[in-house]
Amino acid sequence: MKRWNGWGNTRTDYPLPASARAYLANLFGSLDPQPDVTYEAVLKSLPISPLPAHPLVDVSAGERLIHARGQSLPDWVALRSGRIGAFPDGVAYPRTAQDVRTLMEFATKVGMKIIPYGGGTSVAGHINPSRSDLPVLTLSLERMTRLLDLDEVGHTATFEAGVTGPELEQSLAKQGYTLGHFPQSHEYSTLGGWIATRSSGQQSYKYGRIEQLFAGGRMETPLGLIELPHFPASAAGPDIKEMVLGSEGRMGVITQAKVKVRCLSEAEEFHGVFFPSWEQGAQAVRQIAQEEIPVSMLRLSNPQETETTLILSGKAWLGAADKGLRLIGYGGTRCLLVFGVTGSTIHVRRTRAQTSSVCRRNSGLFVGTIVGHTWEKARFYSPYLRNTLWDIGVTIDTLETAIPWPKVLEASRAIPAAIVTAMEARDEKVLAFAHLSHVYRDGASIYTTFLFRRPPDPDELLELWAGVKRSASLAIQRYGGTITHQHGVGMDNAAYLPAEKGALGMQALRALCKSFDPDGMMNPGKLC
Ligand SMILES: Cc1cc2nc3c(=O)[nH]c(=O)nc-3n(C[C@H](O)[C@H](O)[C@H](O)COP(=O)(O)OP(=O)(O)OC[C@H]3O[C@@H](n4cnc5c(N)ncnc54)[C@H](O)[C@@H]3O)c2cc1C
Repeated sequence: MKRWNGWGNTRTDYPLPASARAYLANLFGSLDPQPDVTYEAVLKSLPISPLPAHPLVDVSAGERLIHARGQSLPDWVALRSGRIGAFPDGVAYPRTAQDVRTLMEFATKVGMKIIPYGGGTSVAGHINPSRSDLPVLTLSLERMTRLLDLDEVGHTATFEAGVTGPELEQSLAKQGYTLGHFPQSHEYSTLGGWIATRSSGQQSYKYGRIEQLFAGGRMETPLGLIELPHFPASAAGPDIKEMVLGSEGRMGVITQAKVKVRCLSEAEEFHGVFFPSWEQGAQAVRQIAQEEIPVSMLRLSNPQETETTLILSGKAWLGAADKGLRLIGYGGTRCLLVFGVTGSTIHVRRTRAQTSSVCRRNSGLFVGTIVGHTWEKARFYSPYLRNTLWDIGVTIDTLETAIPWPKVLEASRAIPAAIVTAMEARDEKVLAFAHLSHVYRDGASIYTTFLFRRPPDPDELLELWAGVKRSASLAIQRYGGTITHQHGVGMDNAAYLPAEKGALGMQALRALCKSFDPDGMMNPGKLC
């Protein structure tokens, strides 16, 4: 069963090794985890739904509660404290595009707002109803998951938009194909959600971001259906597909999408390399990208992230290996790179050799596939750590950007430093670290993680988080980064969007949403 107030299913836990607990206790001092509000108590707090009965709409308190929030830190605080504020007034489960149309007509008749809902894994406040006098219907795509067509000549597949990552990959794998889109939220996030948030998978280096994979589809808007035909390329004016990408449910409901698929690969390996310093590691990944070496993924952890990963893993063999590394000069400033190679056996061998050569040029030390495959095994499991940390009184959150190469090194130091400064101003300790992933020829995504003590008062926790978010977001913008490389805008990044798009750009975005949704029915308060 899916957790109603945390990450993932209730069968899976992430036990924290004793050494990791001791490390955190030493860092944050005494922790004081307060118990969470119970499911039953929150259920009782839900107001009665004002919606008239409709065969496609469920107004039960349980369904409305589990669709009320996503996975951002403010969402967690709301769910765990019971201060949820606004709930959807009903949840609809259409089975067909015609059902979606019917629900839109119902919403127009009743004067209701609609929030499209995929997997609910948003980390930016995309699916939260705002407090308003108008009723809100959350429209879940969870029953629209079919593979509609697989074109084995053109290498495209058409799915209903509610298909989750594992469902999609399983249907393709049966026929020898893959999409290769693996965000860390793969277990629950959906094709429609990926398109609506411009998502990026961990192996985007090989397979491309969702923008490169999305080939066409259909969106039901308040003004009717918009078809997005598939062309391999087109010069027929601005591309409507580009307008749907990142639309965050503001223009309509994507009901189906055609995506570009590939044949399953013959071979795949993940390797670990240590660099003596951040500068050398960053130079190596930049050169790999600029020399166009066809790896499938790159993730370079900064010294603090490398250290924390080794400690939190609690694996004795890693500790022993680490001691050895220190002895040969890969000490306090060492950085771990994990890279993947995927393709035919020959391709894998050749790419591994090319990558090794660049790494060695930058003093990289190969440690084989054990570290790489440890990363691979945990790639969808590590979000479960968040549940464990919360239970012991520690909060974890992340933020991300993409920045051109000339500023990457400076920004990768400045963003964690901005987080530390914001917390020091509140006399709080914080552990902040970063990695480069989604590396491009012209820049890289900087993904920052921070952990801090969870104060007993939820308002204090939210204030701390807001201070960090503001300070880090301003640092991102000072260094010329985008406010989001992959998580989208939602509510949490909306304040920073005007600085990125400009006044005219914001006006154009609003006009675009309005042209599909003149009365503002779709997901109000998000994006723009
Ligand atoms: C642990 C964790 C790890 C994550 N890792 C990554 C990562 O590696 N890469 C990454 O890109 N993101 C990541 N995310 C963020 C999140 O998973 C993505 O934003 C994802 O694309 C959201 O998909 P979803 O189906 O859950 O959408 P939801 O959260 O349900 O919705 C997100 C937005 O999309 C809209 N939407 C959803 N479906 C439709 C539809 N069919 N039509 C129109 N609008 C729709 C919603 O209205 C909302 O505005 C992570 C999140 C978590 C919690």
